Amino acid sequence: MSAVRRVSVFGATGSIGENTVDLIARAPEAYNVVALTGGRNVARLAEQAKVLNADLAVTAFEECYADLAAHLEGSGIEVAAGQAAIADAADRPTDWAMSAIVGAAGLVPGLRTLRHGGILALANKESLVTAGPYLLAEAKRHGATILPVDSEHSAVFQALVGEDSAAVERVIITASGGAFRDWPLERLSEATLAEACSHPNWDMGQRITIDSASLFNKAMELIETKEFFGFTSDQIETVIHPESLIHALVGFRDGALMAHLGPHDMRHAIGYALHWPERGHVPVDRLDLAAIGSLNFRTADPERYPALTLARYVMETGGLSGAAFNAAKEAALDAFIGGKIGFLDMARLVETVLERLAGDNSLKCDKLTLDRVLDMDHVARKIAQTIVDGDRLRQSG
Ligand code: NAD
Ligand code: MG
Repeated sequence: MSAVRRVSVFGATGSIGENTVDLIARAPEAYNVVALTGGRNVARLAEQAKVLNADLAVTAFEECYADLAAHLEGSGIEVAAGQAAIADAADRPTDWAMSAIVGAAGLVPGLRTLRHGGILALANKESLVTAGPYLLAEAKRHGATILPVDSEHSAVFQALVGEDSAAVERVIITASGGAFRDWPLERLSEATLAEACSHPNWDMGQRITIDSASLFNKAMELIETKEFFGFTSDQIETVIHPESLIHALVGFRDGALMAHLGPHDMRHAIGYALHWPERGHVPVDRLDLAAIGSLNFRTADPERYPALTLARYVMETGGLSGAAFNAAKEAALDAFIGGKIGFLDMARLVETVLERLAGDNSLKCDKLTLDRVLDMDHVARKIAQTIVDGDRLRQSG
């Protein structure tokens, strides 16, 4: 790949974003950086924009505009603020864009970049979970390519290169088991925020780290696997693998199981998407198998990890259930971070929201549209909020 490529990074100041910026900064002559976006960390965003000589820097928050503008004064870099400005930045043509905003806020910018073809490197898992069929249809309509960046999905994607997906029997997504994998079940209800914020293997953003402890992250990944690759719920398995060195395995009808191994460094999956369809040099540690010695696996106990059962429900229900699941999960996470509910209440809350919506027949939808997805996001968050605020207690009391 010799021509200079136009690239944008949405969520540049986050964990995935920083790793993406790191790779781009190692070969500045290869890239023309169009837009970088971030949140409140405007000093860091401005620094990245200067290092990469970006055309435009956007903060998600209008109140941060003046601060960002002050940091970039005299640099010649354009400055903008707000969600609409992020979506406008996505309208600027690129050959490659990274979608690494956290949460449902990442959906619209990703969709807008698809409109000008090119490659969308997708880390934002909420996009596939909430609007998978719509996102894929939009990519097809505009001749754009979506490449998975979540390490498990990059692993499956790589294991499938040159294979006929009709010959796939099963896909196994590995899970570290998160911060509490060795805790006794009865202690889980008392898990604190600080305890949920430490991950045994990976250094990631706060929200995904807590989702890893509850296995909501893995639940999202099972749904992503179904949406992106088109496998059925029955074909998608998960197994606890404490070392997190095998990211996923693909099993074929001749009994072969292709495993993808890699270090705990998201720059591998990001670099694969950046250099695809070639394999470029990526500066991650090389695994020393003899030093690792052994790899372990154990069953993912549904009693310990109710989020996995909810993921099965979503995979089998389809329609708007992914949008409802994600919104309820985000609201549950906010409530846990805010100290309003306990660790195990998160799964109970998501389950209750799904039950209520299923009871109203609201999860059914033959054809997803952006409006329907955003409406469901709003409705499910509201129900979750009402339950957190005590509605359920009042009703049952
Ligand atoms: P993070 O919290 O570290 O960073 C999130 C980024 O989004 C930051 O730049 C932040 O400023 C921006 N942001 C936050 N709220 C925003 C909003 N409302 N509007 C616009 N921008 C906003 O998150 P992360 O760990 O880098 O994860 C990003 C996405 O990638 C998530 O969807 C996550 O599930 C997925 N992912 C992350 C990893 C990982 O290793 N961190 C691995 C696989 C997938
Ligand atoms: Mg992952």
